[in-house]
Amino acid sequence: MKAGVLALQGDFREHAAAFALAGATPIEVRTPTDLADVDCLAIPGGESTTIGLLARSAGLVAPIRDRAAAGMPILGTCAGMIVLAREVEGGAPLLGLLDATIRRNAYGRQNESFEADVAVRGIEEPVRAVFIRAPIVERVGPGVAVLAEHGGRPVVIEQGNLVAAAFHPELVGEARLHAYVLGKV
Ligand code: GLN
Repeated sequence: MKAGVLALQGDFREHAAAFALAGATPIEVRTPTDLADVDCLAIPGGESTTIGLLARSAGLVAPIRDRAAAGMPILGTCAGMIVLAREVEGGAPLLGLLDATIRRNAYGRQNESFEADVAVRGIEEPVRAVFIRAPIVERVGPGVAVLAEHGGRPVVIEQGNLVAAAFHPELVGEARLHAYVLGKV
């Protein structure tokens, strides 16, 4: 299976490694031609504003939306969650696919980053989660399922073929969310 990783900015190499761990062939996606060749896509953590700017200038926004509408599974982590969202507080939405309101940088500054073990519905053992200037999920729409919570707030959400995590599983070699998304292909 060809697992695409949006490779414009952020920790796309770690996502590629996680897909490889989960048994897929990672493909770096920088152009619409790259995108056409993959079975699913990860949108990495990083800076959502930068990823947005680069995705627009690469002409990737409409093609990603089209593939998503056609059922391609997408995993967004941290900045990737923001990029997927329909409403963004403290920023502008990019793909507008995920019916949720996300507040950027809501868990505080870089030095207030933390790790936790998070129980995720559909995954047996808790997932190791790294929160770095993580977004908070303020609202989810009726079509969105909450797969995990931390501190009383959703941190993994799912809407059909879209899965978004407020944290980074990929930074600690945690590949089970990637495997979960590969299972949707
Ligand atoms: N603060 C970043 C943003 O708004 C997200 C942080 C991250 O991906 N670790 O894009």
